[in-house]
Amino acid sequence: MLILGIESSCDETGIALYDTEKGLVGHKLYSQIAVHADYGGVVPELASRDHVRKTIPLISELLTECDLTKQDIEGIAFTAGPGLVGALMVGACIGRSMAYGLGIPAVEVHHMEGHLLAPMLEDERPEFPFIALLVSGGHTQLVEVQGIGQYKILGESIDDAAGEAFDKTAKLLGLDYPDGPMLAKLAEHGTPGVFKFPRPMTDRPGLDFSFSGLKTAAAVAIRGAGIHLSGSKSDATELPENIDQLKADIAHAFQQAVVDTIAIKCRRAVEQTGIKTLVIAGGVSANTELREKLAQLMAKQRGNVFYPRHEFCTDNGAMIAFAGAQRILSQGDQNLKVKAKPRWSIEELPKL
Ligand code: ATP
Ligand code: MG
Ligand code: FE
Repeated sequence: MLILGIESSCDETGIALYDTEKGLVGHKLYSQIAVHADYGGVVPELASRDHVRKTIPLISELLTECDLTKQDIEGIAFTAGPGLVGALMVGACIGRSMAYGLGIPAVEVHHMEGHLLAPMLEDERPEFPFIALLVSGGHTQLVEVQGIGQYKILGESIDDAAGEAFDKTAKLLGLDYPDGPMLAKLAEHGTPGVFKFPRPMTDRPGLDFSFSGLKTAAAVAIRGAGIHLSGSKSDATELPENIDQLKADIAHAFQQAVVDTIAIKCRRAVEQTGIKTLVIAGGVSANTELREKLAQLMAKQRGNVFYPRHEFCTDNGAMIAFAGAQRILSQGDQNLKVKAKPRWSIEELPKL
């Protein structure tokens, strides 16, 4: 069965074709980075408008590239939530109406289930049960996964998500949007031990996270180091000579604190559940330090770690086509209602 996947929950239009027998047929991604760059973050109304402009042309381009036509599509999967309501509405309306026009089924996909199942697009797939660490721009969650739709949240962030903390700290350091990956790059040049930030909420039991204090710790260090980043010329004359090194040192300490904190919680989750397979997904799972640290942890635990290929860590259409395919196969069509769900817990999903 050939499934078209449409992702439009935030600032990326992701389109993919997934064949339930042959696997991923093709995918395309359009990122709105340039649209939002001047504003330093995603502007919801601009995001919706850009999805309107890009979704259908991107579907046509992908079909042409794959030597297929609309009539070859046998089912449509679109992201219904969580995310920006206007952006979600675009994908939902296009997905539902195309399916109606073509007389094929369409299903709503939960964006985080998409992230969570993304490692299953690879040849070496994790087997159930596993612990999923979802680390993205809007979520930091540890989820016990017994099967598709069998999700129990073991812990989550009580304030900022890990990706959000990366983005906000990067902005404090004067880096350009999109900031998370830039901060990771800068951290490569940092000297370990120059700055030391706390590992929040690791001094008490439990699997919840908190990252907003870390951002504040970084802000204090930045001010303490005399790095004024207001951008005005008068400030620039007062900048310390070794400013680039100081910034890299702060980035390094920040990344280390996030990675250590996440690793401590993952170890607890593995010990608490006895489940020795760890899956990491979401934008921050692209972080090399995090991948290495968790690989070491799971080797020590005599377990395994799985993650998506780099391009499928952040938002993409392939993960939506894949998650939707599993649901279309077992649930069939849904009614014609077009509903975006900006807030939607992964625990509410039906078991397959
Ligand atoms: P959600 O999935 O929770 O709705 P989102 O879709 O905006 O949020 P993703 O696209 O999964 O999030 O991931 C984007 C986030 O990942 C951003 O916060 C970005 O900074 C972060 N990120 C991407 N690459 C890296 C990296 N190498 N290191 C750290 N953070 C990264
Ligand atoms: Mg994005
Ligand atoms: Fe995402």
